[in-house]
Amino acid sequence: MPNAFCIFVLCISVVIDLHTHTTASDGRDDPEALVGLASNAGLRVIAVTDHDTVAGVARAARAGALAGIEVVPGIEITAVDDRRDVHVLGYFIDASCDALHAFLSAQRRDRIRRVRDMADRLTQLGFAIDIDEALHRAGRDATRSIGRPVLARALVAAGHARDTQDAFARFIGSGCPAFVPRSGAPPAEVIALIRRAGGVASLAHPGKTACDDRLPALVAAGLAALEVRHPDHPPSIEAKYSALARQLGLAITAGSDYHGTNEHGSPTLGHVTMSEEEFELLQRRRPGVSG
Ligand code: AMP
Ligand code: ZN
Ligand code: FE
Ligand code: FE
Repeated sequence: MPNAFCIFVLCISVVIDLHTHTTASDGRDDPEALVGLASNAGLRVIAVTDHDTVAGVARAARAGALAGIEVVPGIEITAVDDRRDVHVLGYFIDASCDALHAFLSAQRRDRIRRVRDMADRLTQLGFAIDIDEALHRAGRDATRSIGRPVLARALVAAGHARDTQDAFARFIGSGCPAFVPRSGAPPAEVIALIRRAGGVASLAHPGKTACDDRLPALVAAGLAALEVRHPDHPPSIEAKYSALARQLGLAITAGSDYHGTNEHGSPTLGHVTMSEEEFELLQRRRPGVSG
C-alpha cells in the first residue's frame, strides 16, 4: 500500500528550519509573528538564530509552546578571521549563560561603535545621515543587535541610495568606500564559547564565507556541523559541503536564513529545511551527549 505509506510518512515528517532572524536583530518579524508564520508554513521545529543576541529566544519559545512548535534556542555569532566575518551558528545554547551574555553585550556595543564609524565615513564622503536618529529608530534596547541594515535604511531615507541593496553595493558592502572592517573574536573562541553555553556550533553558509582552509582548525576547536543547505548555496556547493562534512565527521544543518518576507531577497520561511534524522544527529553533538 504505497499510497497509504506515503500519507503516513507525510503525517509524521517533521519540517525543520534552523536559521531564522527576528526583530531582536535584523529580522522584520517579531518572535511571536515568526512563530505564527512558522505554524502557517507547517514547520514543527525552528531555531531562532539572531545576530549576536538571544533576546528573541524566550518570546519565541513561549509562542512556540502555545502553537506546538519546538523552538531551539540559537544564535548566529559574528567571529572575525583575518579581517573577514565568519558567522558561527550555535544551537541548544543555555541562553542564560553568564559568559555568553558578557560576550554578546560586548559584541553589540562594538556593533554600535562600528556603525557610528561608518556614519562618520559617509559624512566625509558627502553622504551624511542622521545616525542618532537612525539608532533611535532601531530601538534603545541594549539586548537588540543592530548592524549595517540600520545604515542602509538611513541612506535610503536620506535619498542617497535607491534601496538597501543599492546602499550595500555603493557604500557599506565589503570593500566599499564607507565600509569599516569589524574587529572581534576569532571563530575558535566563538566555538568554545558556544560549547561552554552547552551548545553545538555549526559554520553558517560556508559557501559564502569561503574559509575551507580553516576547517580542520575549527573542527579541532570543537566545530560540530556545517550549514550545508542555505539559500545562497547552489546544488554544487551543497554537494561539496555535504561531502566535506562527511569527510570531517561533522553533522549538517540547514535553514532559510529568514529575515522577513521580501527582506533583501530573503526566501520564504521554511524554504530550506532539514530532516528529522539530520536534526537527531545534530542533537547528539551536544556537549556531554554520547553516541
Ligand atoms: P553587519 O552584521 O552589521 O555586518 O550587517 C550584515 C547584515 O546586513 C547581514 O546579516 C544581512 O542581514 C545584511 N546584508 C548583508 N548584505 C546585504 C545586502 N547586499 N543587501 C541588504 N542587506 C544585506
Ligand atoms: Zn542578518
Ligand atoms: Fe549569516
Ligand atoms: Fe543569518
